[in-house]
Amino acid sequence: MHVVPLPALADNYIWLLHDDAGQAIVVDPGDAAPVEAALAGRALQLRAILLTHHHGDHVAGAKVLRERHGATVYAPRDERIGSVDHRVGDGEVVMLDRPQSRFEVIEVPGHTRSHIAYAGEGLLFCGDTLFSLGCGRLFEGTPAQMLASLERLAALPGDLEVCCGHEYTQSNGRFAREVDPSNPSLAARCAEVAEARALGRPTLPVPLASELACNPFLRIDSESLTEWASRHHVSGSRVERFAALRAAKDVFQG
Ligand code: ZN
Ligand code: FE
Repeated sequence: MHVVPLPALADNYIWLLHDDAGQAIVVDPGDAAPVEAALAGRALQLRAILLTHHHGDHVAGAKVLRERHGATVYAPRDERIGSVDHRVGDGEVVMLDRPQSRFEVIEVPGHTRSHIAYAGEGLLFCGDTLFSLGCGRLFEGTPAQMLASLERLAALPGDLEVCCGHEYTQSNGRFAREVDPSNPSLAARCAEVAEARALGRPTLPVPLASELACNPFLRIDSESLTEWASRHHVSGSRVERFAALRAAKDVFQG
C-alpha cells in the first residue's frame, strides 16, 4: 500500500492510500479539490472514505467525493456528520476488498466527544487526537478522557506510522523543547523537522516509537515532565499534570 499526505486548507493533511491496482482510500477529506487532483494525477479509483471526527476541516469534502465516486463513507456515531454509509465504534473493524485492507476502530474522546482513530496496514490515522510532538485541543472532552485516549494509542505497536490531521510538528516542537529541554531524542527529531520544513516536506508520517520518545504528552510520567510540573507548582495526579501541560501549550507563544 502507498501512503501519501495531501496538503489541504491551511495546514491539514488528507491521507491518501492506494494499492498497485489503483484502488484508493482517503482519510479526513476536509476539501475535495486536492483529492480530485491526486486521483486524476495518479489514475486512482476512490473506494472508501474514513472520517475521524466531525470538524469541517476533516469532513467537508466527503459528501461530494462520495457522490462523484460512489465511495463508501465510514464515520463515528455522531449525527453532526451526514452522508455516512457505516457508523463505527470501539473494537469494530473496517474491512475493505478494494484496496484490500483492514482497520481497527479505537474511540479516542477528548478533542471531540466522538473522535475515533483507525489502526491498520501499519498505519495509525488519529485525526486531531495525537499530533507529532503534541496533541489536540480539548474542545469537548476532559483532560482525563484525552489522557486515556492518548494512552490507548501509545499502547499500540511502536512501528505503526502515525498519520495525523495537521502539520503542527515544528511549532509543537518549540513547546516540547521548552518543557523537556534535556531529551536528546527530541532534539534530534526537532532538527530533522526543521530540515524537512525548510525543504517544504511533510514531517509525517512518523513512527509511534518516535512519539513515545519525544512527545511530552506521551511522557507525562517521565522525570522531565514531573520536574516541569514541580517547577510550575503543579502537584497531585498525573491527570492534573497532563491538564497543566495542555493548558500551558494553549497559551504558549513560541
Ligand atoms: Zn478537529
Ligand atoms: Fe483539525
